[in-house]
Amino acid sequence: KREEIGPDVHGIDPALVDERALNVVHTLKQAGHEAYIVGGAVRDLLLGLKPKDFDVATKATPEQVKGLFRRAFIIGRRFRIVHVVYGRGREHEVIEVSTFRAYLDNAAAEQVAGNEKTSKSELAGMKHAVDSSGRVLRDNVWGPQDEDATRRDFTINAMYYDPETQIVVDYHGGIKDAKKKTLRMIGDPVARYREDPVRIIRAVRFAAKLSPLGFKLEAKTAAPLVESQALLADVPQSRLFDEMLKLLQTGHALATIEQLKKLGLARGIYPLLDVVVERAEQTFVKAALQDTDRRVGEGKPVAPSFLLACVLWADVRDGWAARLKQRQHSFPALQDAIDDVFNARIGDVSGRGKLAADMREIWMMQPRFEKRTGSTPFSLVDQPRFRAGFDFMRLRADAGEVDEALADWWQEFSTASDAGREDLVQQAK
Ligand code: ATP
Ligand code: MG
Repeated sequence: KREEIGPDVHGIDPALVDERALNVVHTLKQAGHEAYIVGGAVRDLLLGLKPKDFDVATKATPEQVKGLFRRAFIIGRRFRIVHVVYGRGREHEVIEVSTFRAYLDNAAAEQVAGNEKTSKSELAGMKHAVDSSGRVLRDNVWGPQDEDATRRDFTINAMYYDPETQIVVDYHGGIKDAKKKTLRMIGDPVARYREDPVRIIRAVRFAAKLSPLGFKLEAKTAAPLVESQALLADVPQSRLFDEMLKLLQTGHALATIEQLKKLGLARGIYPLLDVVVERAEQTFVKAALQDTDRRVGEGKPVAPSFLLACVLWADVRDGWAARLKQRQHSFPALQDAIDDVFNARIGDVSGRGKLAADMREIWMMQPRFEKRTGSTPFSLVDQPRFRAGFDFMRLRADAGEVDEALADWWQEFSTASDAGREDLVQQAK
């Protein structure tokens, strides 16, 4: 089944390979370990896309890998991979190195979980643990490369590329599927969604990402999606939240929403995602989604707080207006409206303090943009989160919710010199 494909067939441009990934593979091979670039990076290289990050798979164990690099860290207590770090600060780059793992079906995985010395507290949660921790245990059994390929999700995500020999190793017809523009689950899709229901969401994500290239989900891969959706109930909320963010923040938010509708998954993946889909046609939310896609496309950073603040703004605004009608003062009214929205919509993930704090700050800044006198504009513009608050207000202006002239004024004010700012404040009187 193992196929080795040369550069004349796969056509990967070696110049697109990150030099640090190249260095990791080279170092491992020099030390006598098999090593390849793997997964999404090979897929993207093959399709002529720029990989977002490079993962390496190797026969070496995490300890062996760690020993070969100056700055390498074994990550995860049980799900063990190695992060090899290059550069510092904002510019730093992490190459993730994982050891080839065995493919265990559900029965075999439960045996592994049973043999593992499991603590009492872990046993107490075993009904759920079969899926989550059972899966983690299964994922840490080392195995041969062909099994490492088989445990992956889609055929186009399961190829190995040696950047030195330029050979692609393919066990599941990934090259053929890439040529046919087919997104195909390895093995029996029904069983694979049962094994890890997050693959349902990944199917949507890759279908959306690759739809501009003409990719389609294979019929057998797409057919069980709807009936499998209920399995997501067993996935921890935090993992679902993270997957939702990946759907919305990897540059294909609008295409994702289209896919969700097309595949019959518009509701029920995650409550907050339901809201996004429901509101995706609203001018303001649509603008936010478009803006996110554009920013990612331009390689600019995106913050989940900004997009979620946009999606939930209608609730905040309505709650705020209702409280103003009851003669509550503007500031506490807004604060209370925000609390209500967090309770109603964010619930389980409110533990994500930073995200919630950033959303609150964006919202609380909005009434302050109306005040253009005295020292208010000067202190507002110096807030660390001014940019996010302003971008948010700009989107509101685009949607006709506030005056364009106000947004223009703040645009000017934020870029003006001190003297220019004084003038602008005078003019605004
Ligand atoms: P992206 O470009 O969005 O990062 P990716 O394919 O690299 O896409 P990752 O989540 O980074 O996706 O995962 C890396 C690789 O690990 C995948 O290509 C796939 O081979 C494998 N993988 C990840 N998640 C799963 C999963 N839930 N089930 C099976 N294989 C998975
Ligand atoms: Mg990746």
